[in-house]
Amino acid sequence: MPLSTPQIPASHRDGVLAAMKAVDKPGLAIIDGRERASRSGRTFDNYTSRDGSLINKIAACDARDIDDAVASARVAFEDKRWRGQSPKARKKILHHLADLMEAHAENLALLESLDTGKPIRDARGFDIPAAINTVRYYAEALDKIYGEVAPTPDDRLSYVLHEPLGVIGAIVPWNFPLHMAMWKVAPALAMGNSIVLKPAELSSMTALYTAQLGLEAGLPDGVWNVVTGLGHEAGDALSRHMDVDMIAFTGSGPVGRQLMKASAESNLKRVSLELGGKSPQIVFSDCDDLDGAAAGAAWGVFYNQGQVCTAGSRLMVEASIKDDFVARVAAVAKTIRVGDPFDPDTQFGAMISQRQMNTALDYIEKGQAEGGRLVMGGNRVCADSGGYYVEPSLLDNITPQNVLAQEEVFGPVLSVMTFTSEDEAWKTANDTVYGLAAGLWTANISKAMRGIAALKAGLVWVNGWDACDITSPFGGVKQSGFGRDRSLHALHKYADLKAVSISF
Ligand code: NAP
Ligand code: MG
Repeated sequence: MPLSTPQIPASHRDGVLAAMKAVDKPGLAIIDGRERASRSGRTFDNYTSRDGSLINKIAACDARDIDDAVASARVAFEDKRWRGQSPKARKKILHHLADLMEAHAENLALLESLDTGKPIRDARGFDIPAAINTVRYYAEALDKIYGEVAPTPDDRLSYVLHEPLGVIGAIVPWNFPLHMAMWKVAPALAMGNSIVLKPAELSSMTALYTAQLGLEAGLPDGVWNVVTGLGHEAGDALSRHMDVDMIAFTGSGPVGRQLMKASAESNLKRVSLELGGKSPQIVFSDCDDLDGAAAGAAWGVFYNQGQVCTAGSRLMVEASIKDDFVARVAAVAKTIRVGDPFDPDTQFGAMISQRQMNTALDYIEKGQAEGGRLVMGGNRVCADSGGYYVEPSLLDNITPQNVLAQEEVFGPVLSVMTFTSEDEAWKTANDTVYGLAAGLWTANISKAMRGIAALKAGLVWVNGWDACDITSPFGGVKQSGFGRDRSLHALHKYADLKAVSISF
């Protein structure tokens, strides 16, 4: 395994310095179109997991700041400064925002990489372009949403309008900070809502930066607020607020449950939840591209250091090809270049935090204690950098009831299981509380069709992992949550139907 110790070679120093310059100030919330400290004056420390050093201090907002932001969003919604503009004008502003994000893409990528420890090549090549594409997609969509005319007798006209909900609270995680934020912000804005966004405390920087670009692009004050802070303070206050119409959430199951409870205990605001999974990759012996499948299996779990809600963390292989296939996956995993996120060649950087690193290492230990065989990895690496790196890890001999077959690790840990019949494959694949994504690899189209019908998942991929984009809906079933991001369907999440009837 080519493990380089993260240092700052001269070639990467410019990137680090540029990123540090871009954050060379405290992170301030954006409320009612202005940068603001928290009312309490408190801040929290923002570290980079790249080497454990302090990046900056960020406003630790609480319920009072959330009140300010919600009030500003409400006024902006009621006086129609945004939703009252023509679709053409709103579309132009969102495209202008995308143009500015493109012009600032390098800064955004540097910030994202610094804030999260993810490889700069991923931030440049995926996170930021995908966030921009999301804004463009919904900018284009917003003037193509029509209402309906219902069938009626001659003396009546009944029609159906899509009306924006009002004030949307968006609470997002740290694994793809800007990308996940824009999956919520862009469709909510396209439908004419106002937004209060609470970024994850570990990754606030790109949301703050982009909301400033939004103001420059012409979004009116108060339409998109960003309130930084801790989940149990700012997040909790947002979820309990009596004047928030909806919470759109991506994150963990326990917090998802709290959000539903907070809704029930406050104003019955609607809630959408994207809560991760334990997604299976099912490989049949008749797969005609085992090397392609091995690459899909390895990158399906190790991308973004395994911190992906759709991570294909359960590798289910037909028993007759298991040893051969696991060797192929390990061969791919061994080529993954682990190291300093700011090295443009690095493919696998630091985990988000010391806590998340320790969680992954604990799961690897638990897996072995339950009889799992460590095929590769299993260790913290690059420790002398001060950062939090865990190498790609592969455990064989996992059984369906083991912790590593049931619980989401959210780290670079792949569990290998076997099956001997098609029915057993579908049954084991469905045997967790989750249902986000599932993949299967086979040359047999009939088998693939049976799998598509049998698998309980919001996303099913055949002969290619994660082969979809903004044009397809994204979300899960069972305890992976409900509600969809991406595609035109996401627009309807941020709107209500008004049925009108005119008699004459
Ligand atoms: P998390 O605790 O669910 O955090 C997600 C977001 O919710 C963050 O903005 C967080 O704020 C906020 N939050 C936390 N407590 C809250 C509360 N009581 N009320 C309202 N908002 C609250 O997830 P995490 O700690 O970042 O990660 C823990 C685990 O969640 C991971 O190991 C993984 O299993 C899962 N996860 C899933 C996804 C996904 O894409 N589905 C993404 C990230 C994590 P703070 O950042 O300030 O706590
Ligand atoms: Mg950070």
